[in-house]
Amino acid sequence: MFKIKLYITCIIIFSILTGCSRPVFSQSELVFGTLCTITLYNRGRARVYQNIFEQLREIDRRMSATMYGSDVDRINKAAGLEAVKVHDDVFEVIERALFYAELSGGAFDPTVGPLVSLWDIGGENSVVPAQEEINGILPLVNWRDLELDREGKTVFLKKPGMAINLGAIAKGYAADEVALVIKKARINRGIIDLGGNILFVGAREDAGPWRVGIQNPLDHRGAYIGIVQVYEQTVVTSGVYERYFIVDDLQYHHILDPSDGYPVQNNLLSVTVIGDTTKGGTSMDADALSTAAFVLGYEQGKALIESMDAMEAIFVFKDMSIRLSQGLNFTLTDENYRIVVEAF
Ligand code: AMP
Ligand code: MG
Repeated sequence: MFKIKLYITCIIIFSILTGCSRPVFSQSELVFGTLCTITLYNRGRARVYQNIFEQLREIDRRMSATMYGSDVDRINKAAGLEAVKVHDDVFEVIERALFYAELSGGAFDPTVGPLVSLWDIGGENSVVPAQEEINGILPLVNWRDLELDREGKTVFLKKPGMAINLGAIAKGYAADEVALVIKKARINRGIIDLGGNILFVGAREDAGPWRVGIQNPLDHRGAYIGIVQVYEQTVVTSGVYERYFIVDDLQYHHILDPSDGYPVQNNLLSVTVIGDTTKGGTSMDADALSTAAFVLGYEQGKALIESMDAMEAIFVFKDMSIRLSQGLNFTLTDENYRIVVEAF
C-alpha cells in the first residue's frame, strides 16, 4: 500500500504581528496548489489584497502545467507541431528557466514535464514507474530542444511528447510580481508567502530583522531546525518533504534528476536559498537556484550559489548536519542537528 503525503511547504515566520503599532491583517488563499498568505502592514486595504490574489491567479492560469488552456498547456499540446505565442511574463519565466538550465548543466530543466506527469508525485495514483517507461521518456527531457523566439515571443518544443513544467520557478516569479504591486500601492512593508516561498518587502518598523524558521525536513509541518534572520530578502526552500510518497520504505520525492529520471538521490534533505533584493536578488532566481542546487548536490550546488553575489544558502543533510554561507545569521534551535563550519 502506498502512503501518500502532501505537505504544504511550511516555513514559520515569527513576529508577524509584533513590533507594529497599527493593526495588521493577512489574507490566505489556495493558489498554485498551495496556501498563499499575504501580510500587509499599513494601507493594506481589501482592494490591494484583491489585486494581489487576482494577479496570483492570473499567473497560475498562464503558467500551470495542468490547467486547460494555460500558456504552458498550449505550448505542451503543440509540442513537435508549432511554436506558440505566449504572454510576456510566461516568456520571461521560460527564458530565465533556460538560463538556469544552461548554468546548472541541465540539473534544472524546465522540460521535465513528461517525468513530472509519469511520477505524479503527490497525486492520487503515484506508483513507481517501470524502468522502460522512464527510458522511453528521458529523450524528451532536454532543455536544448526548447526554442524561444525573442521577437515573436513564441515557444516551441521540438519533439512530440515534450512538455514544460515551471513548478520550480513560477512561484518565485509570482512573489516578485506581488512585491511590485505592494510597492506601487505605496505600502512600505509586507510579507509574501507562497507556500513557503517567502519574500519580505521593506524593513520592519523597528528596523530589526525578520525571523524565519527553517522547516525540519524530518518532522511535522511547522517544526523548525533553526531561525534565520533576514532583512529585505527572499527565502526559498527545495526539500524532500514537500511532496512525496513512500513505497517499501523508500521515499520518492518531487525533485527529479533529469539525467536518470528518478527523484534525486543524494545526501541532502533540503536546500534553502536566501536572496538579497537590495543586491538584485529576486525570488524567481532563488526559486530556480534552490531546485538547481538540490539536484546538483552540495559541492556543485554550493559553487553555483557562491557564483551569485546576492545569494546565500543553507544545506540540510540526511546525517542531520547543516552547512551554510558565512554571511547568514542562523541560530540552530533543534539539538538533533549540528552545524558544520565550512567557509562559503
Ligand atoms: P521546487 O519546489 O521549487 O524545488 O520545485 C519542484 C517542482 O519543480 C516539482 O514539483 C516539479 O514540478 C518541478 N521539477 C522537478 N524536478 C525539476 C528539475 N530537475 N528541474 C526543474 N523543475 C523540476
Ligand atoms: Mg524552485
